[in-house]
Amino acid sequence: MNTKIELLDKENPNIEILKKAGATILNGGLVAFPTETVYGLGANALDPEAVKKIFIAKGRPQDNPLIIHVADFNIEKFVLEIPDIAKKFMKKFWPGPLTIIMNKAEVIPYVTSAGLDSVGIRMPSNSVARELIREAGVPIAAPSANISGRPSPTDIETCVEDLNGKIEYIIGGERCNVGLESTIVDCTVDPPCVLRPGGITLEMLREVDDRVYIDPAIMKKPDKNLKPKAPGMKYRHYAPKAPVKIIDGDLNKSIAKIKEMVQNYIDNNMKVGVMATNETLSEYSNALVKSLGSRKDLYSIGKNLFKVLREFDDENVDIILSESFEEKEMGIAVMNRLKKAAGFDIIKV
Ligand code: AMP
Ligand code: MG
Repeated sequence: MNTKIELLDKENPNIEILKKAGATILNGGLVAFPTETVYGLGANALDPEAVKKIFIAKGRPQDNPLIIHVADFNIEKFVLEIPDIAKKFMKKFWPGPLTIIMNKAEVIPYVTSAGLDSVGIRMPSNSVARELIREAGVPIAAPSANISGRPSPTDIETCVEDLNGKIEYIIGGERCNVGLESTIVDCTVDPPCVLRPGGITLEMLREVDDRVYIDPAIMKKPDKNLKPKAPGMKYRHYAPKAPVKIIDGDLNKSIAKIKEMVQNYIDNNMKVGVMATNETLSEYSNALVKSLGSRKDLYSIGKNLFKVLREFDDENVDIILSESFEEKEMGIAVMNRLKKAAGFDIIKV
């Protein structure tokens, strides 16, 4: 397939291109598009044949549900009811990086929800994304626009790398602001439960309802006997080609441990990547060192994480060693992705 790649100016996007891309969605095609979290791979959420193509293009397991993206607050037709707490979350955090799980209405096909009776809905804040949804005139089902298992794309080049030739359109150009997938909060249960941490933090959700909690399963190594509430949680995710190890504990001890490990790997003729921070960058030598950003700004760490993981892929390192971050506020989402990228290979110091 000949994929059309269209660069759009976020402030003043070419409306003719958005119209064509919207029509492609309505007619059952696939379009990769920018959102503030990561780039999405979109199809008409109400068309089972179109949605099936997403699973094929990504190589995504069929039991991993998709989030549907909307451009306005009129979501009554997609759900059985909107719980009061969901209304409060929508009012406070939409448009933005928050997906709300509710019981689905019949119009949402089971391919979209992967056989579940619930559906995750989100209104992105990215204006190109919302304009595309408006032009399509239907909600857009979209997972991240990467080949299943790889780190999510936070820029258009990465979408092209993974999906060129497989879909009708790749539109966008800007880098994603948040850089990590949306927070998912399940509002079919009371109290609401976070199934995936993201840019809307637990602390922010608790300002609306202080009973909100994070599903304890998600920060731990997946247990084969436990059925995760968010089906996607059981899959290997966000993984670069090289194995990742997290060195966790006191920062100075972590630095010392990483240096020692780098030396060992080098003695064994391995090419080592280190994920450091602006504050620690100068500590390491002999390795390929990249900074995720400043420790004082965990949002910047989140924004750069997938990009840096992909850069290590391009450099063909044999192993990646990463510092760790405190699990609070945005640090919860950062550590969730990092742990998954590492397959929970964590070395305590
Ligand atoms: P992706 O867009 O690739 O990051 O994947 C979407 C994530 O949302 C997956 O991890 C799903 O498990 C989760 N998800 C979507 N819909 C539901 C739902 N109805 N119930 C639980 N989790 C969901
Ligand atoms: Mg994904």
